[in-house]
Amino acid sequence: MSDDTTVCNVCKRREAFFFRSYSGMSLCKRCFTQSIEEKTRATIAKYQMFKFDDKIAVAVSGGKDSVSLLHVLAEVELRHPKAQLVAVTVDEGIKGYRDEALKIAAENCEELDVDHCVVSFRELFGYTFDQMVKRLKGEDYVKLTPCASCGVLRRKALNTAARKIGADKLATAHTLDDETQTILLNILHGDVLRIAKEKPVTDEVHPKLVRRIKPFCEIPERETALYAYVRGIRFQSAPCPYASEALRNDARMMLNRMEEKHPGIKFTIFKSIEKIRPAIEETARKEGLGECIECGEPTTDKICRTCQLLKYMK
Ligand SMILES: [Zn+2]
Ligand SMILES: [Zn+2]
Repeated sequence: MSDDTTVCNVCKRREAFFFRSYSGMSLCKRCFTQSIEEKTRATIAKYQMFKFDDKIAVAVSGGKDSVSLLHVLAEVELRHPKAQLVAVTVDEGIKGYRDEALKIAAENCEELDVDHCVVSFRELFGYTFDQMVKRLKGEDYVKLTPCASCGVLRRKALNTAARKIGADKLATAHTLDDETQTILLNILHGDVLRIAKEKPVTDEVHPKLVRRIKPFCEIPERETALYAYVRGIRFQSAPCPYASEALRNDARMMLNRMEEKHPGIKFTIFKSIEKIRPAIEETARKEGLGECIECGEPTTDKICRTCQLLKYMK
């Protein structure tokens, strides 16, 4: 090896291609992908996300995080022959965007020999998301951006699909970045008690709510993307035309800037919240914040406003 190459700190043989600044390690491609699989396995064990014979629905949108998660879980599953994976994709009915993602999700499932279940807003709610956006314009019943209301509906669709296929858990590809952004956003929105509900594994709230797990919650988004790239996994990179979470984008940029200057700061935020979560949960209980019995979203009512709106639209 020439002088200007760095050797992988793990295998001490192959050439490093990635420097993980928060751990100070240089990694080769093989040790990098293994480290992602091992970290995910460790997160699953730490939060006791699966039982050995669970049927796990994996939310696969077709984006880099979700297809990477599907590939990593397929690896993890090899050691648990009694566990079963099923991919679930939600077709929101967004013209010119969702079709490509559906195809990519299907291709990845086929490659991994994982069953694929597709549910659509149209069959579940009676309308495509494009139609809903038009109907909801001028409707002041719920003050949500299209992106935020789609998120709530997608969550509901995923739960319905997971329940239908008899899944014990529903895995989503939220990364460390998503989690720290959400923490910051909840603070910035004054919804700080919601932090209690956004856990790596959700509580058993209602028999109709499949417990959600986030096996990537301790993996930076940059590394899930790199994982897809190194393993040559196909994913959709076009952004959704309704994506418009201005505040989240600001939170993302701020966190990325801080992470660059202070490697590991996202982990620190995540771990700080883990430490104080019991106290937040206690406060939330006192304030009467519970979960919507329909969708599991935090609400002070029995049924959240979005679910009320859905009933009203039918
Ligand atoms: Zn190596
Ligand atoms: Zn609800």
